[in-house]
Amino acid sequence: MKELELDIKSMTMPQLKAVMEELGEKPFRAKQLYEWFHQKRVWNYEEMTNLSKGLREQLSVKYPLKPIEVVQVQTSKIDGTQKYLFRLGDGNVIESVLMKYKHGNSVCISSQVGCRMGCRFCASTLDGLTRNLLPSEMLEQIYRIQEISGERVSNIVIMGTGEPMDNYDNVVQFLHMVSDELGICISQRNITVSTCGLVPRIRQLAEEQLQITLALSLHAPNDEKRQELMPIARKYTLEEVLDACRYYFEKTGRRLTFEYSLVGGVNDFQEDAKQLSGLLKGLNCHVNLIPVNPIKERNYRKSNREVIENFKIKLEKYGINVTIRREMGSDIDGACGQLRKRYMEETESE
Ligand code: SAH
Repeated sequence: MKELELDIKSMTMPQLKAVMEELGEKPFRAKQLYEWFHQKRVWNYEEMTNLSKGLREQLSVKYPLKPIEVVQVQTSKIDGTQKYLFRLGDGNVIESVLMKYKHGNSVCISSQVGCRMGCRFCASTLDGLTRNLLPSEMLEQIYRIQEISGERVSNIVIMGTGEPMDNYDNVVQFLHMVSDELGICISQRNITVSTCGLVPRIRQLAEEQLQITLALSLHAPNDEKRQELMPIARKYTLEEVLDACRYYFEKTGRRLTFEYSLVGGVNDFQEDAKQLSGLLKGLNCHVNLIPVNPIKERNYRKSNREVIENFKIKLEKYGINVTIRREMGSDIDGACGQLRKRYMEETESE
């Protein structure tokens, strides 16, 4: 991919060494540059004073830096959650979220501009996929949020717009870079990748020797209901997806997370809970129940509080580890992709 070849901020150390060699520089310059980008997080050659002026000039011609810009920040009055809208070098906008928990700060990042998975309840996929994000564009969401908020980020979830397994190579490169001790050095154990279930990619990820948590968007206890909510379920059966998850656990030893968005009158029946516990029996896992965040383009509704509680109780009865996801920032554009979507609609109508 051409953009990736030219994106110096996405380069790993061996790639940067090759660039330095080509420019007739010593290999240790690669480390200096990498540290400017990922440890000091300075994305402006002018400030890189331990590099010669000539080298800085060459770099700025060959590899111009286009840092992402902050378009908007919304802060929740309820829990301090912050939503960030960023503009990328090519004008596309993406969103990310900073959530503050007692155990540390978590950033939810986007992995693509838009998404082509088509999950029925999701706002991010309504306009399809525009393009993949580069490793540096995923890193920058974290760097900028840390810089602007003044808060240290300790956890990352790839649960924003996009399907990370549909942008596999860039996401894996990002995972290596974000946990690199020469960079921001976030522990892989504090990183979660969420997928709607691209089976071959889950199996591939299991081989990468990463210590990240895999979260699978399940959302239904059988193929029929899953197909209603998620087009990907027509490609891979639940059995295939769960086999891939088991394989992930075998290879990494990491406990699995299953996400289950409760949609009123669709997948929130007691019978669904029972079927779900049968499905997950014997798996070392945790279930996250997410009350669906209704979007105006579809007429899905949230389950009643009582229904949600009873769903949880039923799962617990069968020995399943389960939590109801706390709704963060409910006073600022709720569901993923909604802030970006609203922003785009407003700017388009101007
Ligand atoms: N594509 C990946 C990651 C992004 S979505 C995936 O599918 O897992 C992150 C999670 O939010 C997924 O579980 C997704 O199904 C869920 N989600 C998306 N829109 C939602 C909504 N409106 N209400 C509740 N959950 C939603």
